[in-house]
Amino acid sequence: MNFHFLTIFPEMIENYANESIIKRASESGAISVKTWNIRDYSKNKHKKVDDYPYGGGSGMVMTAQPIYDAYMDMLKSEGMEKEKPHVIYMSPKGRVFSQEIAIELANHSDIVFLCGHYEGVDQRIIDLIVDDEISIGDYVLTGGELPALVVMDAVSRMIPGVLGGEDSHIDESFMEGMLEYPHYTRPAEFMGHSVPQVLLSGDHKKIEQWRKEQAQAITRKRRPDLIK
Ligand code: SAM
Repeated sequence: MNFHFLTIFPEMIENYANESIIKRASESGAISVKTWNIRDYSKNKHKKVDDYPYGGGSGMVMTAQPIYDAYMDMLKSEGMEKEKPHVIYMSPKGRVFSQEIAIELANHSDIVFLCGHYEGVDQRIIDLIVDDEISIGDYVLTGGELPALVVMDAVSRMIPGVLGGEDSHIDESFMEGMLEYPHYTRPAEFMGHSVPQVLLSGDHKKIEQWRKEQAQAITRKRRPDLIK
């Protein structure tokens, strides 16, 4: 699975991708992460990538030209001119991201994230190259890099070979329409608090039942909307 980022802050993406599980996944070849610096493609003599909005109003808008040229260059150098990648514009106006959408996106072989800044991007670039708009929640951030990394991280975890145990993700929150049960590790007693006895019993059936009950209880309490 290949992730491509169209961004004016490639270091933000590279710094994240060079740590922990995502780094290991890149090194093993399960995923690849590439950045395309939109500013490098600006034909403006000061390498500007934004301009005033038509019709007035506050803030600036990212211009279409450098984004379009970066995208076309990316298609060419990645050999994606015939088989177009899935292009996502990170936007508070998009469909709200979820585990379900992460599973859906994991079916694509190439995903492009367009990361906006300022008031966003010229609508014509969305009309021309974007397939999907995704929001990571009902709040506004300063740029699309963090949201794109959130999506990439969640999608990566669905790709075989990225997590240590092949099915580590199957047992997690949201996978069964349920929040996850609580975890405990050593020591068995900490600050006067003991690990629930059942987890020390070695009885796998009982442990499974306890975890199921815990998951149901926490979901009912915190997220009754998830229960079908
Ligand atoms: N003017 C836009 C609006 O009101 O919808 C907000 C622009 S925001 C300051 C700048 C960029 O950050 C957006 O173009 C988008 O790429 C990204 N962004 C901000 N909040 C986001 C969110 N909740 N989900 C996804 N992307 C977001």
